[in-house]
Amino acid sequence: MPRKPSKHNTTNKKPFAVNEEFPRKCNQCAKKKVELETISYDANMRHDGRSYSFTVPKLEIMVCKACNEKVFTGKVDQQIIAAMRKHIGLMSPAEIREGIKRIGMSQKEVAERVGIAEATLSRWLNETQIQSRSMDKLLRAYFSIPSVRKLFESDPIVAGS
Ligand SMILES: [Zn+2]
Repeated sequence: MPRKPSKHNTTNKKPFAVNEEFPRKCNQCAKKKVELETISYDANMRHDGRSYSFTVPKLEIMVCKACNEKVFTGKVDQQIIAAMRKHIGLMSPAEIREGIKRIGMSQKEVAERVGIAEATLSRWLNETQIQSRSMDKLLRAYFSIPSVRKLFESDPIVAGS
């Protein structure tokens, strides 16, 4: 994946740029009928060994008005992942950030102490991946119970970094 570090804009929460033109040409039926829609979407996804069915009440997605083809992009996936996280009852990225802030540690430190890669924690925070139910419980315990944090301080794995 090409990276554009200087252009990265985290404040832009809109799934699509305002200057994008609609309707667009459909990849499926070739008609110029693809519009940006906000739909109620019934999702069925597997995560962490379980199947989940849930509704995303307001999914912003491009839909072809002619053939009904939906265009799934990374931004669409992020919305579905966020809805699934909510459905399962896992901490949101904002809640994880808040937890890290509350204990006054860096993301890197927290990742090391609980035994995950910093990149993994980043993916949870960027809404590109969801933590497992067990990792969610571990993080909750880590953020709220000082003795758990104390216990993980002595983890020998930390010594190597
Ligand atoms: Zn179409």
